[in-house]
Amino acid sequence: MPDKPKVGFYWCASCGGCEESVVDLAEDILTVLDSIDIVFWPVAMDFKKRDVEAMDDGSILATLINGSVRTSEQEEMARLLRKKSQLIIAYGSCAHTGGIPGLANQFGRDKILHYVYHNSPTVVNKNKIVPDVRYKDNGYSVTLPEFRNVVRTLDQVIDVDYYLPGCPPTPKLLKNALFALLEGKAPEKGSVLAPNTALCDDCPKKDSKPEEIEYTQFKRPHRTNIDPEKCFLAQEIFCMGPATRGGCEARCIIGNMPCTGCFGPTSRVKDQGAKILSSVCSAIAGLEENEIEKVLETIPDPIGTFYRYALAGSLLRRKVSLD
Ligand code: SF4
Ligand code: SF4
Repeated sequence: MPDKPKVGFYWCASCGGCEESVVDLAEDILTVLDSIDIVFWPVAMDFKKRDVEAMDDGSILATLINGSVRTSEQEEMARLLRKKSQLIIAYGSCAHTGGIPGLANQFGRDKILHYVYHNSPTVVNKNKIVPDVRYKDNGYSVTLPEFRNVVRTLDQVIDVDYYLPGCPPTPKLLKNALFALLEGKAPEKGSVLAPNTALCDDCPKKDSKPEEIEYTQFKRPHRTNIDPEKCFLAQEIFCMGPATRGGCEARCIIGNMPCTGCFGPTSRVKDQGAKILSSVCSAIAGLEENEIEKVLETIPDPIGTFYRYALAGSLLRRKVSLD
């Protein structure tokens, strides 16, 4: 019997939700496992870096890497897996566009470490210790991965063949992508393996989306009695649907929560945050600067709202230097 194609999974800076989404394949995982050999998956199986180093270059058909790249170890593993794999798939928002970890690009390394180890309300650290990259004690030494100054998307570090978007991607998209690769039906290199249409096109509330609107405020969803039948924008609740790629089966909308943009933009949009910002700003009621500012003040965290998953991969990228 011929060898099955080899597939790897790896995680960088992420929450673990993408790993969960692989498990969410449920009984489909058995069909997938009939067709592939998983040769590296640190979260679920006991493989070591040296096992990957011993593999022939290009011997893995595809490795799915989730998470953005923050540490020297993540960068090293991404480069090693690139060498060993014919195809690299950026799996999930963090690898694709930077994701939630990318929001940290508003602050430098020192500020982040200072907050996490000294000032966070739940931390007690009387001696003000922060982790050292190299530590020696009693003749033994320990080396930790270096914490870089910025978060990068996977394709800012290595060449990426495909992107599977979402926080996390749906099991259906994962299964379709794996079988397309196995059957040699992969699309053009660089493709995002999800529909290239806006989420609004798949949205069950799309018929109530207003053609024209004048925003007088943006209401916070948790403080609003949301009409489940009506488009969020029509209720002056901010929704990223118009600037976001479809393919998630409108999961948040069906749960009566607005889209926060995890599938990233369609191929026609270069910068997801700038796209929604321009559409929102052109629809604010009032012409005077103070009137417009008053409406914008009802969005308490503009970067976290417009660039929640996409700051690291955006045209802005970061507020701090690379090193
Ligand atoms: S703006 Fe949001 S709620 Fe309205 S149609 Fe688009 S995705 Fe649906
Ligand atoms: S509705 Fe928006 S935030 Fe929710 S899963 Fe879909 S793309 Fe992601």
